[in-house]
Amino acid sequence: MPDIKIQNLTKIYEESGNDIVAVDDVDLTIGDGEFVTLVGPSGCGKTTTLRCVAGLNKPTSGTIYFGDRDVTDKPVQERNIALLFQDIALYPHMSVQENMAYGLKIAGFSREERIARVEEAAELLQITDQLEKMPSELSGGQQQRVALGRSLVRDPEVFLFDEPMSDLDAKLKAELRPVIEKVTDEIGCPTLYVTHDQEEAMTMSDRVAVINDGELEQVAPPKEIYDEPDSRFVSQFIGQPSTQFFDGNIGTVNGTAELVVGDYEYELDRAGLEGWDGDDVHVGLRPQYISVSDDTGAGIPATHLLDEPLGDATHSFFETEFGEVVVVTDPDFEGGGEEYGLVFQADYIQLFDSSSGVRIA
Ligand code: ATP
Repeated sequence: MPDIKIQNLTKIYEESGNDIVAVDDVDLTIGDGEFVTLVGPSGCGKTTTLRCVAGLNKPTSGTIYFGDRDVTDKPVQERNIALLFQDIALYPHMSVQENMAYGLKIAGFSREERIARVEEAAELLQITDQLEKMPSELSGGQQQRVALGRSLVRDPEVFLFDEPMSDLDAKLKAELRPVIEKVTDEIGCPTLYVTHDQEEAMTMSDRVAVINDGELEQVAPPKEIYDEPDSRFVSQFIGQPSTQFFDGNIGTVNGTAELVVGDYEYELDRAGLEGWDGDDVHVGLRPQYISVSDDTGAGIPATHLLDEPLGDATHSFFETEFGEVVVVTDPDFEGGGEEYGLVFQADYIQLFDSSSGVRIA
């Protein structure tokens, strides 16, 4: 199977005389057998990128290769792709078996070959017992499995998914996620999966590509994206509840960098802080690395607002001089509107340039 190489992809739409830069000089390679998720907020250019790879949109500039084959100007039917959208669109008057076999029939496959391929795909998708049913008799999750099966039987070179689970509830999503992973793994072709759901991106991908305003912010394995975000945007977008931010200033004490946040100082023995002495920075901390002290003098003064108990942990909200802050507290924490001190675990502090949002240390 080939890899997908997206090189310097730019797509500009023109609307009422105005240029809309939907995708801005994107470079991304999806290796043979690799599952890459393109994740970002609404309107950031995910679907446009995917449609250019599929051949449904013509790039303004840039090149798309499947292996060594330049497919930039090839129509969708010459790309041998499997495409799955949010809109499932099964043929309502055909059974599951007929829906899955239809593309093969049009392509001239024999009856025996159609049956064999559909049975193999149905087994992989765990829908063998649904083959005689009509689409209206299936749940949303089952229908999406049939749509996946319809693509699967055609033995695609490339898998492209555009928010295929956004109409499904949380439980069905959780059930379908491993099925999609298993299927794409088994077929072994490169997969580009578009979603705005960071949880989907984190749980399914070999690598996550975070896109913001048409530009790629970072491409890395899920753990690296979470632990070592390259920018404030990535830190905030990935992770739930999201990274909390504070205003800080960098100083130096006895040759060691020191971070000042409000009345609190943290020694930071980190590379990358040379030359930042006296500069303002944005300080990011994941909510599980902030602890709540009864001693109001122990950390950033905080007034408790409310608790959201989740069973295995509680999300506790506080008002501070930096705005509202969410902290992951113990399952039995109950704040009761009291005053607390929020204490940072200094090892997990992320520092960002306050103007560009780029990670400093
Ligand atoms: P969503 O998650 O909401 O689907 P997205 O990240 O997939 O968003 P795109 O659909 O790629 O984003 O859109 C990127 C930008 O391009 C947006 O500003 C959108 O309004 C604009 N856009 C998309 N399609 C067109 C079009 N056919 N004509 C004009 N502008 C478009």
